Amino acid sequence: MDPELIADCVHCGFCLPTCPTYVLWGEEMDSPRGRIHLMGQHVGGTPLTPEMAGHFDACLGCMACVTACPSGVRYDRLIEQTRAVVEREHVREPADRALREIVFQLFPYPRRLRALRLPLRLSAGARRRIAPRLERINPSLAAMAGLAPDVPDRVRLPRRVRAVGRRRATVGMLTGCVQGEFFPQVNAATARVLAMEGCDVVIPPSQGCCGALSLHAGREEQAVRLARRTIAAFERAGVDTVVVNAAGCGSTMKQYAEILGGEWAERARAIRTADLAEYLAALGPVAPRHPLRLSVAYHDACHLAHAQGIRSEPRTLLAAIPGLTVREVAEAAVCCGSAGTYNLLQPEAARELGDRKAERVLATGADLLVSANPGCTMQITAALRRRGGPELPVAHTAQVLDASLRGLAKVP
Ligand code: SF4
Ligand code: SF4
Repeated sequence: MDPELIADCVHCGFCLPTCPTYVLWGEEMDSPRGRIHLMGQHVGGTPLTPEMAGHFDACLGCMACVTACPSGVRYDRLIEQTRAVVEREHVREPADRALREIVFQLFPYPRRLRALRLPLRLSAGARRRIAPRLERINPSLAAMAGLAPDVPDRVRLPRRVRAVGRRRATVGMLTGCVQGEFFPQVNAATARVLAMEGCDVVIPPSQGCCGALSLHAGREEQAVRLARRTIAAFERAGVDTVVVNAAGCGSTMKQYAEILGGEWAERARAIRTADLAEYLAALGPVAPRHPLRLSVAYHDACHLAHAQGIRSEPRTLLAAIPGLTVREVAEAAVCCGSAGTYNLLQPEAARELGDRKAERVLATGADLLVSANPGCTMQITAALRRRGGPELPVAHTAQVLDASLRGLAKVP
C-alpha cells in the first residue's frame, strides 16, 4: 500500500454516497474513506486483522469512489495493492480458501471453462431449481448455480476477419475467458461489426485470460503471468491496437504498464487497448444503419464508466440506430454487484445490489437491456430471473449494432 497514495485522501467524504457498500450498510469502515483509513493504519504498523480483511473483501472494486473524489485519490491502485497484501498476510477460513482456489483455477482458463459447457447446457432448468437448496449449504455455490448463463453453441472465429469494402484499420481482438466461453455470440458480433466498419480483425488463437479477475482479487502473480501472455500473443499477431468488448478486461489491459513495470511495461505501452464503443466512436461510422424499432435500457458497467470514463460513446452509437431509443437506468453509477468474482465470493451483498439494479432496469419499461460486460450480464439476468415474470432479454452493444448493420428485424 503506497503511503503517498493514502496521504492524498483529505477525508472530505464526497465519495461516501456513491459507495454501494456504504449505501447498503452505512458503516464508515465499509466506505472508501474508512477503507483508506484502515490502509493507513496498516502502513503505520497495525497488523492486518480478520475484521480489516473483511472490510477490504467487502469492497466491490467498482471505482465509483474514483469518479466521485475531487482530490484524485487513486483508490483503484490502493485497493489492488491492498488486496495483494490481504492475500499474502491474511489466513482465510478453509472453506473460503477452497472456494477461491476453485474460482481462480477455473475462470481464468478458457479450456477448463469449456469443460463446464456440457453440464451447463444439459441442466439450465435443474441448476435454477437446486439453487435455493444450495443456498442452505453454501451461498457461494448457490450463486454459481443461479448465475450460470444458458450457454449457446460454440463459435469458432477465424484468425483474421477481413474488412468489408475499403480497409480503414487493422486491429487485434481480445476474446477473453468468460466472454469467449459463455458469450461467443458477442465475440462473433464484435468481429462482424468491426469488419463492416472497415477493419481487418486479427484474433490470435494463443490468447487467453487477460488477468483481470486475478488482478481484482489480489492474485498478483497469476495476474502478471496472464498479462504477459496476452501482450506476447498480440505482439506475435503484429497489431498495435487491441479492441476489447468486456469492460473489466479493457480496464485491466489499460493498466498493464502500471502493473508490470520494467521491460514488460514498455511492451505493454506499444500496444494500445481500446474498448469497442470507444474505438468505433473514434473511427466514425461508414456502414449504413438499418432501423431497429425498440427501446433499450443501457447499463453502465463500472469498469467502463468509472474505470475507463466511457459513458457517452455506447449511448451515442446506440442512439444513432434509426428507430432505437435509449432509456436511462436510475442510479446508473451504482454497481450491479457483479464486480468480477464478487458475486461468488460475497453472494449476499451482491444479491442485494443485483435486486436493486433489476428493479431500476425494469422501471425503464425498455424492451432490451444492453450491457457491455459479461459479469454484469450474468448478474442482472440472474436478478431479473429471481423476480419471476417475463424475462427481459439482455444483449451486448456489439449485438445491437450487428443486428442494425445486417438489417435484421430484431437483436438475436
Ligand atoms: S470501489 Fe466501490 S465499493 Fe469499493 S470503496 Fe470504492 S465505491 Fe465503495
Ligand atoms: S477518497 Fe476522495 S472523496 Fe473520499 S474522502 Fe478521500 S479525498 Fe474525499
